[in-house]
Amino acid sequence: MFKIAVAGTGYVGLVAGVCFAEVGHQVICVDIDDHKVKMMKQGISPIFEAGLEELMRKNYKAGRLDYTTDYVSAYKAADAIFIGVGTPEQPDGSANLSYIATVARQIAENIEKDCLVVVKSTVPVGTNDKVEQFINDFLVNDVKVEVASNPEFLAQGTAVYDTLHAKRIIIGTESKWAENMLMQIYEPFKLPIVSVNRRSAEMIKYASNDFLALKISYMNDIANLCELVGADIQDVAKGMSFDDRIGSKFLNAGIGYGGSCFPKDTKALEYLARQNGYEFRTVKAAIEVNADQKTLLFKKASRRLITFHGLKVAVLGLTFKPGTDDLREAPSLENIPLLLEQGADIYAYDPVGMDNFKRKYPEGAANGSGSITYVNGPEEALNGANVCFIFTEWGEIKAVKPAEYKAKMRTPLVYDGRNLYEVSTMKEAGVEYYSVGRK
Ligand code: NAD
Repeated sequence: MFKIAVAGTGYVGLVAGVCFAEVGHQVICVDIDDHKVKMMKQGISPIFEAGLEELMRKNYKAGRLDYTTDYVSAYKAADAIFIGVGTPEQPDGSANLSYIATVARQIAENIEKDCLVVVKSTVPVGTNDKVEQFINDFLVNDVKVEVASNPEFLAQGTAVYDTLHAKRIIIGTESKWAENMLMQIYEPFKLPIVSVNRRSAEMIKYASNDFLALKISYMNDIANLCELVGADIQDVAKGMSFDDRIGSKFLNAGIGYGGSCFPKDTKALEYLARQNGYEFRTVKAAIEVNADQKTLLFKKASRRLITFHGLKVAVLGLTFKPGTDDLREAPSLENIPLLLEQGADIYAYDPVGMDNFKRKYPEGAANGSGSITYVNGPEEALNGANVCFIFTEWGEIKAVKPAEYKAKMRTPLVYDGRNLYEVSTMKEAGVEYYSVGRK
């Protein structure tokens, strides 16, 4: 078993650290955020992930897992240091590598024994080479350091399960020493390991994410065409799903992908291609389709209504998908400012994401002429509403019956970005219903 330090306790770092402890490694999780570290020491997860807190408490109690802001002590004693800090998008589409650089410098200045540094964060192809060089440039003690790539494929909402039951673990190394060590670290997971060189590992991550983003944008494009020619996207997707070459996943049309990964990883790959003199036309198209898709329903509703000013607008769902509290790149963040600007009085509900949303949009009158109120359930949001937008397919929102829209709303006008209902059922219930890719 190894002594592992993990830099960054977000969705990737914390889940990786907890799962390493769960299979028996000795783990110390490092974060710069003192408040987060204090919470974690009390067994409270700073992120919403199914099953995470149970494993945090179990492994902390067993003495295999701890949390700290003291990176000096954490890094100097580690056999391996996994980096899971953010690599957010910059205005030009490139990945911001400053958090990675900070950790690399902290490692270089503090390690006291040979160490494998493993980059789990999603980084552009070639970054691991630079990180290795950077660490060696700043190394204080006479020790050996190598860098390996180990991109992460978990999905938020099922992160713990995805880590313990990963379809594959990708390791990218440039030496037998690094490869063997990573193989041993992952051995207790008993999962398939694909071992490649560092640059291929980095590319596998982007190629996988961008392929999925392309699939979603393709289905959204088909959905938009379905509406124009009178086909039904759900029937079309069902028909496609029987073909093994296509598969049944990621065929749902809607109001576009969000989250911390697909939007930034498509832009970063497109940027990387541009830097190398290559025009990445397919990924560029996926980005453009997605940008338009996010405000599709707002535009549809704007064509139907004279104004949103003074209207009570129910918003069901704020997070970018169910099962997470993450709002990054969520369609709600595109649509709510537009509604507020137009003077809408929004009544928003999300079972998990409201606290995070309140930090961006505090309750009450907004800067524009509209206002936002947070409510405790879909029924409260719908009460007396003139129009309703569905942005996230949470179970609590799916459970709202068509008749409830008719009964509770002042005018039962519903714009559904997740195609939760049968068109015919909504019609029978007396709801004026608009969705994506269906008549
Ligand atoms: P996040 O923003 O949730 O967490 C990053 C954490 O790093 C924060 O807690 C921050 O305080 C901490 N941090 C910043 N600088 C630090 C430092 N010097 N030392 C220690 N901690 C520091 O990020 P995330 O969503 O977990 O993503 C991390 C990386 O993994 C990104 O590159 C992302 O693209 C990739 N990834 C994310 C997902 C996902 O679903 N979120 C999935 C696969 C890959």
